[in-house]
Amino acid sequence: MTGTPEIFTGSFTRQEPIPEDAIDAAIAVMRSGRLHRYNVAADEIGEVAALEQEFAAYTGAKYALAVASGGYALGAALRAVGVEPGDRVLTNAFTLAPVPGAIAGVGAVPVFVGVTGALTIDLDDLAAKAGQARVLMLSHMRGHLANMDRLMQICDAAGITVIEDCAHTMGAAWRGRKSGRDGRIGCYSVQSYKHLNAGEGGLLITDDDEVMARAILLSGSYMLYGRHGTVPPDAAFEHAKYDVPNISGRMDNLRAAILRPQLARLDAQCAAWTERYRTVEAGLRGTAGVTVIERPDEESFVGSSIQFLLMDWPDAAVTEVVARCARRGVQLKWFGGTEPEGYTSRYDSWRYVPAAPLPATDRVLRATLDMRLPLTFTLEDCALIARIIRAEVGAVWQAGAADVTPA
Ligand SMILES: *Cc1c(COP(=O)(O)O)cnc(C)c1O
Repeated sequence: MTGTPEIFTGSFTRQEPIPEDAIDAAIAVMRSGRLHRYNVAADEIGEVAALEQEFAAYTGAKYALAVASGGYALGAALRAVGVEPGDRVLTNAFTLAPVPGAIAGVGAVPVFVGVTGALTIDLDDLAAKAGQARVLMLSHMRGHLANMDRLMQICDAAGITVIEDCAHTMGAAWRGRKSGRDGRIGCYSVQSYKHLNAGEGGLLITDDDEVMARAILLSGSYMLYGRHGTVPPDAAFEHAKYDVPNISGRMDNLRAAILRPQLARLDAQCAAWTERYRTVEAGLRGTAGVTVIERPDEESFVGSSIQFLLMDWPDAAVTEVVARCARRGVQLKWFGGTEPEGYTSRYDSWRYVPAAPLPATDRVLRATLDMRLPLTFTLEDCALIARIIRAEVGAVWQAGAADVTPA
């Protein structure tokens, strides 16, 4: 069978435009001149405070705080639960650089926990390392939720405080519980490649009065914390207001104005992502040499990106697949590369962390290919992308079948 190979011409980094009502809201903020979150009239609820109320309501949390970035939210969360320089903090070996970066940013030391073939944190490895730290910064990397019931049992039994990095799970849930609600704190990013787009920004949720009081003060509230959208009782600030340093990282009214109309549509957007994911997944299923990640029934995930494994393929064959797909317009990222590239890096390239080798994790990372699914892709685009991957994986598999032996 011959003919011109199909080429995909869409952009993997092209987001949808900001909705018109969000643009109107942003223009109204600019016309008012009141961009700073505390620059509001006496009884006015500013855009940031309103966003906090709406995000708390969306997640079911008592409190929400809007900040400058997802990474800032992670750092504030660590400080708010009392992590100090020199402390060890458990975290995922499979994550993105801002996660170990947030831990290093407070002078603490990441202790990596391995990843399973389901791309979730290895709960046996977590249980084995539970005695090494009193905090787990859990990254729901690429939207894969571990068994949160078992994870919380392990952490509760060991007295470990859980901070959830929900950069890829805003809108997701485990057995109906919104992602970010199992741990003491949930942190989210509203950077352009996440589920809400303000360019930059972050959100932090908790039910804990003391934690939220400290997080608000940390974010740079001065003594204006009473103007927040969701405010703990005064008693929670009584000592904290003298003890907690101001480490400015506030959100501004302009970004909050852009976010509020997007939040109102978040569930519909999440459903649209997952439809795209399921289309690519269906197209990849049954391809020789490809392992599709099976999603547990308990997990409601948001398919804003998709991963698949080329388990035990030689590195050269994996990079050949990536190169061949790229020539046909399909951008795959590989987590097995020894050099950090683009947004993708590996636990052993964060050399500021004294990491012991994790052979089982290395085997999974060397097999992991990753692809964004922006909402600017149609379902037809997704079907085409899957056909291209399937064909190129097939070509490499057939050419080198004899070489593909378990490592
Ligand atoms: C994007 C991201 C963050 C941090 O978010 P920023 O808003 O970019 O600081 C944290 N964790 C993961 C897994 C991310 O992808």
